[in-house]
Amino acid sequence: MTTSLTKSSEFIALEDKHGAHNYHPLPVVLSRGEGAKVWDVEGKEYYDFLSAYSAVNQGHSHPRLIKAMTEQAKTLSLTSRAFHNDKLGPYEKYMTEFFGFDKVLPMNSGAEAVETAIKICRKWGYEVKGIPANEANIIVCGHNFHGRTISIISFSSDPDAKGNFGPYTPGFVSVPYNDIDALREAFAKTPNVAGMLVEPIQGEAGVFVPDETYIPEAASICREHNALFIADEIQTGIARTGAMLRICGDCSCTRRCEQQVDTYTRPDVLILGKALSGGMYPVSAVLADNDVMNVIKPGQHGSTYGGNPLACAVAMEALSIVEEEELMVRARNLGKRFRASMQELVDQEPLLNLVRGKGLLNAVVVNDTEDSDTAWRLCLELAENGLLAKPTHGNIIRFAPPLVITEDQLDECCAIIGKVVKAFKK
Ligand SMILES: *Cc1c(COP(=O)(O)O)cnc(C)c1O
Repeated sequence: MTTSLTKSSEFIALEDKHGAHNYHPLPVVLSRGEGAKVWDVEGKEYYDFLSAYSAVNQGHSHPRLIKAMTEQAKTLSLTSRAFHNDKLGPYEKYMTEFFGFDKVLPMNSGAEAVETAIKICRKWGYEVKGIPANEANIIVCGHNFHGRTISIISFSSDPDAKGNFGPYTPGFVSVPYNDIDALREAFAKTPNVAGMLVEPIQGEAGVFVPDETYIPEAASICREHNALFIADEIQTGIARTGAMLRICGDCSCTRRCEQQVDTYTRPDVLILGKALSGGMYPVSAVLADNDVMNVIKPGQHGSTYGGNPLACAVAMEALSIVEEEELMVRARNLGKRFRASMQELVDQEPLLNLVRGKGLLNAVVVNDTEDSDTAWRLCLELAENGLLAKPTHGNIIRFAPPLVITEDQLDECCAIIGKVVKAFKK
């Protein structure tokens, strides 16, 4: 079908009439992207400071990704796992060597990968740890975001994510994030803990960075209690926070090496998604060693599209771009530059409370109540001035540009934010 629509308002009206209202987007209709920039249907240019929730770390329309995607699409796109294909094995070898695990289980969306990790964890709890049937518990954190399935929203603390979707899946115990004593207590009080699921930085909660010691200590408490430590790095992983994975700490190597296992912390189960495909296509993955992953036997888990040749080709290229363009180093250095600039603004402007983050996953907290529309109106002004960002949780604005953004571009963006904040009337 060809369309004769041209104006943003016409596209927005179409979505409003024919699409479910499950999102509340900014009134911008994008039609093209390249690197750190996107353009709307009127031809207006913007810097993208959301990067599709950190899926586009490699930048919009990366030429190498387009090539990998189109070449594989022309050759073979989907076989299902009923047969082998010549991309899956090489991809699995690449992934496991890249991240330092024995095995990978390929899926599509992030939520599916989280579900997969939960299933693996429970099964490991029964078959390896010896938990009595249907008694396994998994510890999770308050204000988490792990996706939108029934089981995942069952342990959400967000009333919008959870309300009226019950009955909820049992077997999850929530503890406050970044509270190691609460975690110890939960382990002491809760029987049959199979594992703990945690984000190394809580992205959706407003880029909440825990104390340096929290994640390593949480991992070691899991180990003490023979429970799996499961890291959801769907948003923090693949160079976003200045290292290949957030659990790598400040290690700057290009892969998750053996050294990092000792220097920071090593999850028993690692969940990846989003930038694993550089925004081309939904690709997610769960990684673990044999003693954990081998609990899954034929017929016990899967997905029609999981591990398809297109996904494998795109993901290998997406990771190799991150490695070769050293995007983790860029994220780390540009992140420091961004926070320094924002800190100056915070110091000058009572409208802003603070800036926080790691690498190029940052947030600014606006000085207003959580239910105010100040952050939303600031984002509208930013868009007007050529920068796209979105509030997360009322008064917090996340700033997460593609990692390929240049230093000059970043400085230009800091100037835009400064100008908008200074001119803003509350
Ligand atoms: C985005 C996200 C998910 C869910 O991924 P989808 O692809 O949207 O299902 C899960 N966990 C974290 C930490 C995320 O940021």
